[in-house]
Amino acid sequence: MNKDWSEKNKQIQMLLGKKATYEEGIKLLIEFRQELFQQITYIVNGFPKEAFYQMPYGGAKGYHSKTLAYSIWHIFRIEDIVAHSLIQNDEQIFFSGGYQEKMGTKRITTGNELKGEQIADFSKELDVPVLYEYAEAVMQSTNALLQKLDYRDMHRKFEEADKERLIESECVGREEEANWLITYWCGKNVLGLIKMPFCRHWIMHIEAMQRIKNRLCALARRGVDPIAYCGFSCNHCFLGQWCGSCRTDYNACSFATCAPDKVCPNVACCQNKNIDGCYECEELETCEKGSYTPENDGANAAKAQAMFIRKHGKKAFLGVHNKLHEKYEFAKTQEILGQDMYEGLKILEETYDI
Ligand code: SF4
Ligand code: SF4
Repeated sequence: MNKDWSEKNKQIQMLLGKKATYEEGIKLLIEFRQELFQQITYIVNGFPKEAFYQMPYGGAKGYHSKTLAYSIWHIFRIEDIVAHSLIQNDEQIFFSGGYQEKMGTKRITTGNELKGEQIADFSKELDVPVLYEYAEAVMQSTNALLQKLDYRDMHRKFEEADKERLIESECVGREEEANWLITYWCGKNVLGLIKMPFCRHWIMHIEAMQRIKNRLCALARRGVDPIAYCGFSCNHCFLGQWCGSCRTDYNACSFATCAPDKVCPNVACCQNKNIDGCYECEELETCEKGSYTPENDGANAAKAQAMFIRKHGKKAFLGVHNKLHEKYEFAKTQEILGQDMYEGLKILEETYDI
């Protein structure tokens, strides 16, 4: 488990277990859930539709054997069922918000009963932006519930009538891969449910989503020119695990994800001009588009790299990057190349001559 997330999870569990620290525990839990949800937001904003039904680890043992869409569905169907049908005994967001119709699926269960290709087929059915909207609505609804509960509620247990209600809801599959969930949930008190479906369960599936998307990015980049349109090296990029390159549909660079049409302005401009990259453009030094916007503190470092490629070619550029990474510890190139494009070019050329 991610070390930072594991530590936060442990701390939250400890705080929730004592009356004196319970409120602090709830506060941290809500903040932590928001932090984890941000990972889902990045994935939904950065990846193409097809990424959500791919199973790059299909057949493996573990949560990473599923799809991105299934993972989101599963986390939030479970949370919705537990928060509403079990703890609050009211209507699930899935039904009150009309999400079944909006998402375009007949399924109402957690998905535990699905196997292999059924998971990919089900994932294809789902409308991902609506699925994301549903997930966000469930998260907010549960956060409101967490703020409403007090320490005495934590010890509340569940009875036969609660179990019956869950069975009748038909929101948990009858197959043995799924129906154990009802006994499992009803065997816990409210505190136990908060610890698992509302926290640890998220961590496990979001980590699995990260593995899936890292693999999808690596597969997307295979055989693709590692030089980005703006002149960065995808092979050396600190976003390498997040982004499958601006030369593929897996472009998760912020200049693409933040653009209204999700196309990076540098990519769009190069394609319009029918050139290989900004390093072939005469306007490079004065350009303020996309990655070269003056608001980007890495704009001049990006230009320095494109200028280097223009003078010395891509092969030399990748070699210089290898040398820089051997010599220095850095994530963003501006940490080494600074804020002046000509100075940055000089640093690259001096490294090239070593
Ligand atoms: S952010 Fe840019 S340099 Fe980094 S991997 Fe994506 S396209 Fe390549
Ligand atoms: S105008 Fe700017 S974004 Fe367009 S190709 Fe030239 S350098 Fe790149």
